Amino acid sequence: MLVNAKEMLTKAKAGKYAVGQFNINNLEWTKAVLETAQELNSPVILGVSAGAGKYMCGFKTVAAMVDAMVESLGITVPVALHLDHGTYEDCYKCIEAGFSSIMFDGSHYPIEENIAKTQELIDVCAQKGLSLEAEVGSIGGEEDGVVGMGECADPDECKMIADLGVTMLAAGIGNIHGKYPENWAGLSFETLDAIQQKTGEMPLVLHGGTGIPEDMIKKAISLGVAKINVNTECQISFAAAVRKYVEEGKDLQGKGFDPRKLLAPGTQAIKDTVKEKMELFGSVGKA
Ligand SMILES: [Zn+2]
Repeated sequence: MLVNAKEMLTKAKAGKYAVGQFNINNLEWTKAVLETAQELNSPVILGVSAGAGKYMCGFKTVAAMVDAMVESLGITVPVALHLDHGTYEDCYKCIEAGFSSIMFDGSHYPIEENIAKTQELIDVCAQKGLSLEAEVGSIGGEEDGVVGMGECADPDECKMIADLGVTMLAAGIGNIHGKYPENWAGLSFETLDAIQQKTGEMPLVLHGGTGIPEDMIKKAISLGVAKINVNTECQISFAAAVRKYVEEGKDLQGKGFDPRKLLAPGTQAIKDTVKEKMELFGSVGKA
């Protein structure tokens, strides 16, 4: 059974570790993340972007697949199914589809409109038992065509949104989606520290977890980050493993073309990446 993300993140913030959100793209991806979480006895959040949801034939298909897979694989660790960077409309679609958590990305609205829409969705989520993530200060890089500038959030705006009763808060602290450029300035711990001081117990979310150096991840967790999103890194390791298999000509040997064989190294590579991240984030054994 799916759970919302509130309890796992409250525990993570109090225990000074972070729960990973791993974005899923297909059945193998989902299975790899769920199996790794179970093996490591770690709570986990499955992230679904609008693009990935469309690719997997809609949010209803995703929710049905994840729900059935949790049951058939005998997964007992806490699993949340979370909409990543949801539009106002997609938030309602996911609530309807059976997701247990949503992110409303209202960062592109003027702050007043962001607050009004966030408040409305908080009320709906509270009625239905879902958790809700809000974002202040757009996060750089490109995600499904939404391009942000990588700005730092205003701590006072963060407090305003946190006080509405969101479950978790994503705040821009210089992080970006995808690969980090050579001249990246690093995370702004000054901003993060100011946000945590204003928002207290609120679990903070770090987007764009791919390629942030380990010491910065650990410092961010020590300053209140309780959820870290990982997407690109699993894609890179999946692609590298499948490419190696094909380049070695293994798809041409025997029944190596069987998709269950062809995709197996990629699936294993996702598992390895997820394991590495769960160990780094400190969520192993915390289910
Ligand atoms: Zn993001």
